[in-house]
Amino acid sequence: MNLIESIAIIGGKLGEPAKMPCYTGQSMPNTTCKRGSELVQNKESVCSMCYASRGHYMTSNVQNRLWERWEALTMAHEDGRLNEYELAFSKVLLEYVASYRPEYFRWFDSGDLQGGWHIESIERIINMTEKEGAQICHWLPTHENKIVINYAKKNNKPKNLIIRVSQDMINKIDDDIKRIIDVGLGASVVCTKDKLKDMLNECRKKKITAAICTAKYNPDGTESGRNKCGPCKLCWNPNIQVIIYPKH
Ligand code: SF4
Repeated sequence: MNLIESIAIIGGKLGEPAKMPCYTGQSMPNTTCKRGSELVQNKESVCSMCYASRGHYMTSNVQNRLWERWEALTMAHEDGRLNEYELAFSKVLLEYVASYRPEYFRWFDSGDLQGGWHIESIERIINMTEKEGAQICHWLPTHENKIVINYAKKNNKPKNLIIRVSQDMINKIDDDIKRIIDVGLGASVVCTKDKLKDMLNECRKKKITAAICTAKYNPDGTESGRNKCGPCKLCWNPNIQVIIYPKH
């Protein structure tokens, strides 16, 4: 299977976000998010302001590409061809990392896990690339808390897979956050600019290591003027248990 065939099997090329130091993969339409489709009904939820439901993401070109990726994954699952899909994905990942950029990868800049089978499939892809000697750091944000907690309890999560459970509501961290941390997962929370420091203090009180993302705003709420990650790789840092993102 060559690179072109592999790209066709996984439904298209990997994404290259200009703002982040990584490639992205398996981005799918946000209407396929299972928990997200329920959360979006609640105006206090992070999903109600999802960036993937506006602007560039809603153009027909981008939507077509997202649906092609979703179809490639879900058909491979339904037809019992996940093996072939995983092999193709690992090949694309290895080629991209070897040819173009540093070894950082983000799963889903749009969309989410489709089931327990999906996170297990991702683990197999990561293990395939490891076997080939690649050292890739993976960041996987998700609202599918039950799926990933279950997965982390039953499996030895690869050390280079940083799963962050996105907290559902703006300005609110789950009372049960320790349940996530205790199984080796990370988290993220979105806060309005005036609540960034309060959230940092709340995390400290709970003895959770946390950091504020400064891509767009400084911790005091003023504009950073960067609007990109630059050298920051905090989202991939397993020692930072919670990342606090300012609400845009
Ligand atoms: S915390 Fe750092 S790596 Fe994560 S999104 Fe913000 S700037 Fe980028």
